[in-house]
Amino acid sequence: MTAEIIAVGSELLTPARMDTNSLFLTQKLNELGIDVVRKTIIGDDRERLADEIRQARGSSRIVIMTGGIGPTLDDVSREAASDALSRPLDYHPEITVEIEKRISRLGRHKMAEINKRQAYVLRGADVLPNANGTAPGQWFEDDRGILMLLPGPPREIEPLFETQCLPRLRKLEFPHQFYTASLRVAGLPESEVDERIGPIYSAESRVATTILASPGEIQVHMRAQAATTAEAREIAMALSKLVEAELGSSVFTRENEPLEAVLLRICRERKISVAVAESCTGGKIAEHLTAIAGASESFRGAVVTYTNEAKRNLLHVSSKTLEDHGAVSRETAAEMAQGARRIFEASLGVATTGIAGPDGGSDKTPLGTVFVAVADDDGVEVDELHIGGDRERVRVWATRRALNMMRRRLEGRDERL
Ligand code: ATP
Ligand code: MG
Repeated sequence: MTAEIIAVGSELLTPARMDTNSLFLTQKLNELGIDVVRKTIIGDDRERLADEIRQARGSSRIVIMTGGIGPTLDDVSREAASDALSRPLDYHPEITVEIEKRISRLGRHKMAEINKRQAYVLRGADVLPNANGTAPGQWFEDDRGILMLLPGPPREIEPLFETQCLPRLRKLEFPHQFYTASLRVAGLPESEVDERIGPIYSAESRVATTILASPGEIQVHMRAQAATTAEAREIAMALSKLVEAELGSSVFTRENEPLEAVLLRICRERKISVAVAESCTGGKIAEHLTAIAGASESFRGAVVTYTNEAKRNLLHVSSKTLEDHGAVSRETAAEMAQGARRIFEASLGVATTGIAGPDGGSDKTPLGTVFVAVADDDGVEVDELHIGGDRERVRVWATRRALNMMRRRLEGRDERL
């Protein structure tokens, strides 16, 4: 079963707007085991759209259009679909009634006449109510396949697709069922991950394994195919266990959670409080932690100390340490982490100090040198990193490393106890 996505809108052909809906749709379709074989972006042009719809329906069972179903005259997806399928559009007065209700709920008085354009439905199509906008989606199905007309704004299409299109797609007869197991890995380079697990996953031909690298993190997706979902799950999970056994505690989740969420969950379970002192990461660690709902249960606070005075006055880093070893040093990082613990009365403290560039490196501490320290009751641990790339890359990698060091420290405690 394959799908094609047509993103509609002249603005998507300019640098001002990116087509992100197709990424969302592709993810959801892949989860069902439907491959997206082509994506196109077409401007608000009725003829070009009609051509594309005909072509797409000629090669894929599922065609999804996103955008161009609003009220304005440049929204021509409905008309293009009508042309391509040689089917008329019928006026549905009940849709107009819904739109009028919505408009008065939002406190506006009179519906503009032009809104009636959204009440035209491809003959034979089902109307998909849009809880977050005026234009309803449409689901059309014939012996050639399925054509969906869906709204463009992400906040409209996403809930609409999840609540109405996914359940319908799940009911289709698939030749195979799929299950994807995912592992997320921190602290190892992609090449090493692949070298270690390559022999394991290549021996399992029923699973398609993909490795995705992003800054400071590797994701391993293992998609199994079988006659039933239960069987596919069993195959994927068996491989996932082997891969996890090879990578050990570098795997931080099987549930697709971000690293900071995993860290905060461990903190919550063990009633551990966290304090942060940042220099070169400039608040990024605090930003990651506070992005997670419920962070307040464990996160006490953070300081960004950029100057020596700030490190001395706020974190009580000693003058002697700063003079003898410099601000970017193992010793300063350690005292910053301990200082953060002390001033926030937290059980776990983390600190970063480094040279993100592009200026300021020296022979002793070249650009990209970052010290990350983690302190707790058992003492302090400092990692020295040498991160390549530009300023932003150094900051991102140092942040990820700090989060992962905290996680490792907490998990390591079990072993030490
Ligand atoms: P409206 O009722 O808002 O006119 P519509 O269904 O006609 O809805 P469009 O007019 O095509 O949708 O797009 C409205 C807005 O939605 C665009 O300006 C853009 O910000 C966003 N949008 C449209 N298509 C996409 C897409 N493929 N990816 C991300 N955003 C999109
Ligand atoms: Mg529009």
